[in-house]
Amino acid sequence: MSDTPAAPASQDFIREMIAADLAQGRNDGWVITRFPPEPNGYLHIGHAKSICLNFGLALEHAPKSRCHLRFDDTNPTKEEVEYVDSIMEDVRWLGFDWGRHLYYASDYFEKLYAFAEQLIGKGLAYVDDQTPEQIRATRGTLTSPGEHSPFRGRPPAENLDLFRRMRAGEFKEGERVLRAKIDMASPNMNLRDPVIYRILHAHHHRTGDAWRIYPMYDYAHPLSDALEGITHSLCTLEFEHHRPLYEWLVNNVDGLPGAPCQREFARLNLTFTVMSKRKLLRLVKEGFVGGWDDPRMPTISGIRRRGYTPAAVRAFCKTIGLTKYNSLTDLQLLEHCVREDLNKTARRAYAVLRPLKVVLTNYPEGRVEHVELVNNPENEAEGKRLVPLSRELYIEADDFMEEPVPGFHRLKPGGEVRLKFAFCIICHEVVKDAAGQISELRCTYDDTTRHGAKPEGRPKPKGTIHWVSAAHAVDVEARLYDKLFTVEQPDGAAGEDGDFTRFLNPHSVEIVTAKAEPSLAQARAGTHFQFERVGYFFTDPKDSTPGRPVFNRTVALKDGFAKGKA
Ligand code: ATP
Ligand code: MG
Repeated sequence: MSDTPAAPASQDFIREMIAADLAQGRNDGWVITRFPPEPNGYLHIGHAKSICLNFGLALEHAPKSRCHLRFDDTNPTKEEVEYVDSIMEDVRWLGFDWGRHLYYASDYFEKLYAFAEQLIGKGLAYVDDQTPEQIRATRGTLTSPGEHSPFRGRPPAENLDLFRRMRAGEFKEGERVLRAKIDMASPNMNLRDPVIYRILHAHHHRTGDAWRIYPMYDYAHPLSDALEGITHSLCTLEFEHHRPLYEWLVNNVDGLPGAPCQREFARLNLTFTVMSKRKLLRLVKEGFVGGWDDPRMPTISGIRRRGYTPAAVRAFCKTIGLTKYNSLTDLQLLEHCVREDLNKTARRAYAVLRPLKVVLTNYPEGRVEHVELVNNPENEAEGKRLVPLSRELYIEADDFMEEPVPGFHRLKPGGEVRLKFAFCIICHEVVKDAAGQISELRCTYDDTTRHGAKPEGRPKPKGTIHWVSAAHAVDVEARLYDKLFTVEQPDGAAGEDGDFTRFLNPHSVEIVTAKAEPSLAQARAGTHFQFERVGYFFTDPKDSTPGRPVFNRTVALKDGFAKGKA
């Protein structure tokens, strides 16, 4: 079953809540969601969960629905245009579309400012002259209430004057802030007069130098939601304690067109990776990886370049579902979804990653035959191709064992194996070079064993291996990617100093020159293949050139989730 962006997900607590809202006739039957990334890095696979949820809900509730893409660009110091562009590309790649509903929180700066003046006028916000340290020190603790700021009682007119002068750039950074006046004794720390505006003499990627004060995320987010008429504001669990502030703002600001409701779900955590933009940025900046789109990165651009497909990522998000408890998802589940999808779509090809030469001593010199191979057994329409076979071949080095371990069913001295879709061969001699390394195997083939026929008078060989004709093989670069980290939870393992880079896998990529069937020389950039018996590969969209494809290993063939390994 192919997964499309519009395929509905099974029921979960968010979908149940929305169904209940609709049953009660709330929001006129509309479902309006948003995906609100901060443009301070590239999106990662965790964001894909949120994208599939928010855009998926809009598709499920069409036509009275939509999902906005909103850049939460309230923090001027960290944002870059490059990130904005990459985020749009990634959301589209996943198969989703915001139509004309592209927004920037910075577009609301003027309105958000006016709301702040409104709160000041109502006596619900005040300018605090305390230093950030003083504010922190008087916030209280989980068990003791905070202290009132000496400026809490400032009359609205004075607050308004100071706030306007903050905007005009009269004060230095950190000299004053605007705080909501809520409750310094609240058990919820987020309600203890949270800072809603701060002074920052910073250049903003969209508003330039127009602003000297910037709204805090906790202030801008609910009001942006309300301004856009969002009905369901879905975020990750760490915002649960911010919900009362979200509701306080939506309830206390007058003139909002909408009354959004915030609900939380567990974020995606994956084994063997880190998933915060800050940490991923560190890997990029310090050169641990080749860039945001390095195929080992858990970024959308990284997995895309590695050869993961949008359908596989969507199927994965559907499989993990939504919960209210944080947990750790096994990377193997994601890889399983990738294999499931590529198995249906990837063209098959023969390639040998670690070549070992085989000479068929009884095969006539100079003769070339062409074996007809199926391009994709899952899809007959993809047809067949002819692959040359001749006297000298390459097989995978680990398909031969000079001293076979018990249970090894492939080629061994005196043993017999089937060459896939060709015939059976018997190994008679192991030739070694001066250094004692195996340089070639001398074998004979049995012409009567074609088309799956059993050898006569001998047991049927248990193993089948792939091959390429030495004279016809093309050399191609294959990048064999593996896990980026050596431990399941690099964050947790890092402990005190937090240096997760200690757990980077030194073998996360190995580059080999593979011997491939001739057709692969023409493989176009951005094409998926299954190298039979080896794994799924994707021609690197950046580094492949016409006639010189570079193959990224998307995922090995063996599935830790499937039973009975080959
Ligand atoms: P990071 O910690 O990686 O920087 P973030 O939460 O700061 O992530 P935002 O750009 O603010 O990143 O996130 C945009 C949306 O994606 C938010 O609604 C956020 O809740 C959601 N999101 C971020 N990480 C995950 C995750 N691991 N699983 C599910 N949703 C996520
Ligand atoms: Mg963030």
